[in-house]
Amino acid sequence: MDASEFRRAGKEMIDYVADYLENIRDRQVTPDVKQGYLRKLIPDAAPETAEPWDAVLSDVERVIMPGVAHWHSPRFHAYFPTGNSYPAILGDILSDAIGCIGFSWTASPACTELETVMMDWLAKLLGLPDHFLFSSKGLGGGVIQGTASEACFVALLAAKAKAIRDAKIQHPDWTDGQITDKLIAYNSEHAHQAADRAALLAHIKCRGLPSDSDLTLRGAALAHAIEEDKAAGLIPFYVLASLGTTGHCAFDNLTELGPICQAENLWLHVDAAYAGSAFICPEFRHYLAGVEYADSFNFNPHKWLLVNFDCSALWLKNTSLLTSAVQYDCPIILDSPESEQPMPDYRHWQVALGRRFRSLKLWFVLRLFGLDGLQKHIRTQVGLAKEFEKLVDQDDRFEIAVPVRLGLVCFRLKAPGTANERFLKKINQTKKLFMTQATVNGSAVIRFTVCASRTNSEDVLHSWKIIQDVATEFLDEEKARTKLKMPSLAAYIQ
Ligand SMILES: *Cc1c(COP(=O)(O)O)cnc(C)c1O
Repeated sequence: MDASEFRRAGKEMIDYVADYLENIRDRQVTPDVKQGYLRKLIPDAAPETAEPWDAVLSDVERVIMPGVAHWHSPRFHAYFPTGNSYPAILGDILSDAIGCIGFSWTASPACTELETVMMDWLAKLLGLPDHFLFSSKGLGGGVIQGTASEACFVALLAAKAKAIRDAKIQHPDWTDGQITDKLIAYNSEHAHQAADRAALLAHIKCRGLPSDSDLTLRGAALAHAIEEDKAAGLIPFYVLASLGTTGHCAFDNLTELGPICQAENLWLHVDAAYAGSAFICPEFRHYLAGVEYADSFNFNPHKWLLVNFDCSALWLKNTSLLTSAVQYDCPIILDSPESEQPMPDYRHWQVALGRRFRSLKLWFVLRLFGLDGLQKHIRTQVGLAKEFEKLVDQDDRFEIAVPVRLGLVCFRLKAPGTANERFLKKINQTKKLFMTQATVNGSAVIRFTVCASRTNSEDVLHSWKIIQDVATEFLDEEKARTKLKMPSLAAYIQ
């Protein structure tokens, strides 16, 4: 493909993408295909000779689209949103064209420098403490990771290295391994599996602590666990607090956890993967109370801030604790030149060596939406969740299971046992709608998330109507089933 072919194909691709996204509402949300469907549709081996572009483009509808779950359909209400916007796509096109591997400042200065400025922009938009900003000229700074899981992992590695160093001051004869065996990390029982996964990968014991009736991790639960574990000879060193848990969008109490972490020398990491984007709106910042205690903080602009995957923002109060934990020098990589204002060599801030120019899409999104455009997006989606909540409230077959805080509504049919699991399955089988579940007090609740940026009030109503229709059918079936099971009861009474 030469430049003139690229110009033609590129324009066609852009048209295809715009048509796809503008008409996505008409597509069935989840596909009908069975596992292994795709292999049958394409040859067993790569082509010997070049094929024409038109053949490739036409195969997108034939091969790919039948197997796509349309995450940006306004009827997709599963998991959490994943960002998608034209500005971000444009940023990614440019990133692909530059195609640098920005592992150091020298490797492509703009790649590193734009990222440092974007991390400061973002921190200011969210109202994060100044100590996370490069521009505050302290030890703080931010970095774009691929995912929240990676952010949580590297934060834990930094905390672990620090804890080992701290322990050695008192016990110079202990080995790293002996200390690691004693380290214990905490999170809430409702934390994302990324927290436990990070601990698994870092060979760290990790305890999920009980939350209160609001699904919030409180200071008392942490204090109790610390006391217990210290008595058992362990070294508590790390707490992962969640702002906006994945299951229920619950918020851990940083104003209680923070002072305990400070007094006990525990690293406090805050995972706000989904909810973090909402903090660009001042009215949601009360959920951030206590964030000044955090040693590190992450959220995913690729979830709710209209930035396409992947883009997870991580800040540290003291970035040298991360770089010293994961730095590994490589003789074939040129060091960045000496400078009065040294720039980060971001390869020392992450697991991988290579990294994409991800700050471009962030820059494009922040400029082409502006703060007010992004705030409007968040407020609209929270408003739609409130509309859905009202609809649920008006139908007495249902109840709201968890207070609605942002764009997630956890609700349930008032029905016993495993009814809600079966009900959800029946809804998802229509493929007109897609939702997932969580548990509250051991029983299933259905999660309705406002995901796609195109979702409007009519879409919410449309989804609700489907849920109501399936409920009517489901409850009739349940009634018939229980009658079948207990036919004799009525007979006995007669
Ligand atoms: C989605 C989510 C994650 C995981 O995000 P990835 O970027 O996919 O790793 C972690 N924590 C919370 C609270 C989340 O909601």
